[in-house]
Order: sequence, then C-alpha cells, then structure tokens
Amino acid sequence: MARLLSDSDVETVFERLREAMPGRTKNAKGPKGQPDAYRSCISCMLSAQSLDSNTAKAARALFALATSPEEMLALDDEAIAQAIKPCGLYNMKTRNIRKFNQALLAEHRGVVPDTREGLLSLPGIGRKCADIVMSFTFGKDVIAVDTHVHRVCNRIGLTDAKTADKTAEQLEERAPRWAHADGHFWLIQFGKRVCTSRAPKCERCPVSDLCLWYAEQQAQAATS
Ligand code: SF4
Repeated sequence: MARLLSDSDVETVFERLREAMPGRTKNAKGPKGQPDAYRSCISCMLSAQSLDSNTAKAARALFALATSPEEMLALDDEAIAQAIKPCGLYNMKTRNIRKFNQALLAEHRGVVPDTREGLLSLPGIGRKCADIVMSFTFGKDVIAVDTHVHRVCNRIGLTDAKTADKTAEQLEERAPRWAHADGHFWLIQFGKRVCTSRAPKCERCPVSDLCLWYAEQQAQAATS
C-alpha cells in the first residue's frame, strides 16, 4: 500500500518549507557554480557518485582545457580522463562526455536544448541532470530531484518511490503548481540543514507533525 500524505497535507508541507527555507533567488547560481547550459550538463555528468568538492575540482580542471563541444572533442581520451580523475568513474565519464559532445554537435549544432525531451536525447543526460539544467540554467518551473530531495520527499510522504526518477515523476504530479519554481531549492536546503541523511533534526523540524517517517519512529519507540 502506498505510503503517502494527502493532497492537503502535501500543500501544507510546501507552505511551511516556503516559510522556512530560501528559494530560487538566493540560489541563483547553477549546479556546482556553473551558470551556462553546456557546463551545467558536463558538471552534472561528472557529479555521478562524486562528492561536490571532487566534482568541482574535476570540472575546474576540465574547463581549463575546453569549454565548447569542438574544443572538448579535440582532446584525446587520456587528457579528459586525467582532468576528471578526482570525481571517480573517469573512464565511463570520459566516454559519456565524448558521446554527449558528438551528439550535441551532430543533432543540436552544439547548442544545448532547453526542453526535457531534447536534453534526455543526449547521451549521459538522465532525468536528474535534465531537470537540474532546466531549473538552474533555463529557469523552468521544474523540481529537480537529487539525493537530498529524494530522501526528504520519501521520508515525509510527499512521494512513495524507490528511485530518484520515480520521485521526480510523482513530485511533478503531487506538488502544488505554485511550488514548482522554488520547490527544489526549499527541499534541498531542508535536506542539508534539517532532514539530514544521518540524524535528522526532527525536534526542530517545521513539518514533524505531518512527517510519516517521524510518526513511524515514534510508534516504534512507544512499543519497544
Ligand atoms: S520530522 Fe525528521 S525525518 Fe521528518 S521531515 Fe522532519 S527532520 Fe525529516
């Protein structure tokens, strides 16, 4: 059986997060500080299973060598792999970067498309990267789902999904329309500051009276 909050409780959660967390205007810079769509796509590809600090280091080294599809394709694989080594999985990421740039030039004349469909057609770009680029770079009203947003949504009961992509699909349907522009920013800040991966700060959480995970923990504590 689905473990979900009612629609009115979902709305209340977003109202409280809006009060408690900063929105888009205070988070205007793109993912990992990369403001343009091309760099955002590459940075997002580098970020898979990598800490933010290592992703930033790899991105800096790579963009020191190339900042366009033409320049990137002029590099050999060894040069790309060496530059991006700090973020791990560098052989796979090197292959993806090459395929991404080839497709971008062949199918989009080197210009990153501003639609989810267009972005998803590019090798190495999944739902998370597509939504992050749509939201951060193109300013579209999309709630991008990263690891923090995925965790928070499923703890509270905004969604009931095993993967981040499924969470993104459910959130698109369940979040009120007015929350789509800033929802990502509220949820990610909430996940970093309050509903942290380990030891969430439930005692000072603005939605603890609605959170299904918290209710479950309290019920378990009462019976043990
Ligand atoms: S009550 Fe705890 S687990 Fe639930 S949303 Fe708040 S911090 Fe996260």
